[in-house]
Parts: sequence; C-alpha cells; structure tokens
Amino acid sequence: MTAATRVLVLNSGSSSVKYQLLDMADGSRPASGVVERIGEEGGAADHAEALRQVARDLDGQGLGLDSPRLAAVGHRVVHGGTRFTGPTLITDEVVEEIEKLVPLAPLHNPANITGIKVARRLRPDLPQVAVFDTAFHATIPEAAARYAIDAATADRYGIRRYGFHGTSHAYVSRATAALLGREPADANVIVLHLGNGASASAVRGGVCVDTSMGLTPLEGLVMGTRSGDVDPAVVFHLERVAGMRTDEIDALLNKRSGLLGLCGANDMREIGRRMGEGDAAARLAFDVYVHRLRRYVGAFTAVLGRVDAIAFTAGVGENSAAVRAAALRDLEGLGIALDPVHNAVRASGARLVSTAASRVAVAVVPTDEEFEIARDTYALASA
Ligand code: AMP
Repeated sequence: MTAATRVLVLNSGSSSVKYQLLDMADGSRPASGVVERIGEEGGAADHAEALRQVARDLDGQGLGLDSPRLAAVGHRVVHGGTRFTGPTLITDEVVEEIEKLVPLAPLHNPANITGIKVARRLRPDLPQVAVFDTAFHATIPEAAARYAIDAATADRYGIRRYGFHGTSHAYVSRATAALLGREPADANVIVLHLGNGASASAVRGGVCVDTSMGLTPLEGLVMGTRSGDVDPAVVFHLERVAGMRTDEIDALLNKRSGLLGLCGANDMREIGRRMGEGDAAARLAFDVYVHRLRRYVGAFTAVLGRVDAIAFTAGVGENSAAVRAAALRDLEGLGIALDPVHNAVRASGARLVSTAASRVAVAVVPTDEEFEIARDTYALASA
C-alpha cells in the first residue's frame, strides 16, 4: 500500500484559485497551478467552477483528488477572527464559524469557504484543514492588539488588530533563525513581507508580538494599491468635503492608493525604471514607500528591545536591492549595517546581506506560504 504523504494546498482568492500539491515525504511538489479571472469574461464562472477546473487539472496529471497518496487538503483562510488561533481540522461547525467571520473579510472569506465546501464534497473522507492568515498574530499582547477606541464598541464589533500574511511571517521568522544557526526561541526577528500586499511583524523568540496590518490588510506599510496608514479622519473629510460614499472611499484606499495612487504604477520594477529616467512621481512613490518602512523598522526595534535579524521577503523584499538599501541606510546607530556588495547580488536562496560587523543580521529569505500551510495541515492530519 502506498503511504499517504501528499497535501493539496488550496488558496482561493477573490478572483483566482491557486493550488499546489506537496509531498511531505520527500519535499517534492508534483503539481501546481492557478485558475484565474474567476467571474470575468473567458474565466471560470465562479469559485465552484474554478475548483472543479483544479480537480480536472490534477486528474489530467494522474494526481486527482481520489489518489490514495493524498493525506489531506490544506485551505488558506484569510480571517480567523479571535475564534481561530491555529490550524483547525474542518468540520461542519468550523465552516459555520468561518461563515460568521465574513463581515471581517467580505472579499476573501467567502472564496475560502467555497473552496472548502467544494473540496469536502469531492472528498468527504479526507482530513481538511483550515490555516488562517491571522493565526500567527494571535499571540500579540493586548497593548499592541487593542485600538484606543471606546472599549464596548470595539468588543461588540470585534474591532482590534488581527494582522495578516501570518503563514509568511511564521515561515520566514523560523527560516531566519535557522540561517543564524539558532533555535526560533533564541531569535528576535523583524520580518518585512513586501509583496503587492506588504506587512511588517515583530517576532520575539518565535512568538509574534506586533504587526503592521490591523482589523483588515489596509493598515501599515505602503503597498502596491493600498494606502497603509492614513489618519482615519481622511475618510470623514472625503465624505463631507468630496461627497464620496463609503464604498468609493474603500475602493480608493484599497485599490487606487499606495504606489499606484502616488505614481500610476504598482510594480516596483517599473518604478525603478522610471526613476532611472528621472520621473519625479516615481521617485516620490519610492521615497514614501521607504520612509514608511523605516518608521516600522524603528518602531519594531523599540518593541523588541533586542533585534537579532531583519528579514526581507516576498516580491519586493526578495528582489529589490534598492528598497533594502534605502530602508536601512544610515542605521548604524541601531546596529544595522547592510553590505552593499552582498545586497546587490541576485540570488534565489536564503542569505545574509549585512556586514560581518553588523550587530543586527540582515537577511533575504524567500517566503513559502504553501509549504507552511502544507506543514501545518500534515501535522494536524497525521496527529
Ligand atoms: P508578490 O505579491 O510577493 O508576488 O510580489 C509582487 C511584487 O513584487 C510586484 O508587484 C513587484 O512590485 C515586485 N517585484 C517582483 N520582482 C521584482 C524585482 N525583480 N524587482 C523589484 N520588484 C519586484
């Protein structure tokens, strides 16, 4: 009999479903793919259709959901609220609880739930596990998780800092400790996840103690299309003075702000090119992005007290030497010294880019959210 050592990871986003099949016995990844443009012309009609497409893709490769080698399905779920603080074996009751969290993540949780329902219908006998983007941040102390607003209102509506990108922060903080030759419990790490979405976290001894995203993924760093931190009064001002509706302001801050709002491009590669041609808007977008990043490096240095490493990850963090250099320039006073030669080298693996004398190690660590989800899923399914 073949051992069931494979985990199918499903990441159902608002308009796409990504999947990856990982074999936990040998670390191989026999299949991966994406079904895009859900609900758009020429794409799958809805998430259920996209999931059936994933099942057909896998069948076509002889790796179908009916394979005896499949041990479990791991589902990325964006919002776990305060109810879910770790990976959870999915039952009918768990699905109902995730449905109750839809108001906290109206774009994401419904897609995640559809993925879960379709996969459970296809393989009702198989363990299926929900891995939450918020879970790694559940350890953040109240002093950092609470907003200073009326406590009764906050409690009634679940308003607090949840944080996101948790699987990435968990994976990268652990991998950074390993790069330093330390146990996670012996390393304090600031993780800078800089992709199209971006967030920072402060991890003390393997435990997350602060993060830049909040009730939703809008707070914190400047992102591709999201503003990150703004004075909340901007919203009232736009309502009163510009006559904008709440949903219009929501779209402005989430979809037409950040790098895109500042200079018309959300891709750091294009911004780099345009800066090279002397484009002032691109330069300003870069400067605002980097300034915000430095603020969080400073803030999280104070939160941690002792920092052993700063880790850059995701599309921008892994690839943009210019962002890394600008973010950490002239921070020798904080014990941070980037090595310009190491930083400029293009490489794919986890590596150190600080000088030998730097008290704080600076690392570039490729993130691997699928691996983290598969690892959590397999641990729970084989327990
Ligand atoms: P992610 O969300 O992690 O896939 O990151 C996507 C973003 O990474 C893109 O929007 C780009 O801004 C950025 N990116 C990818 N490759 C590079 C690169 N070579 N240099 C700078 N930025 C990059």
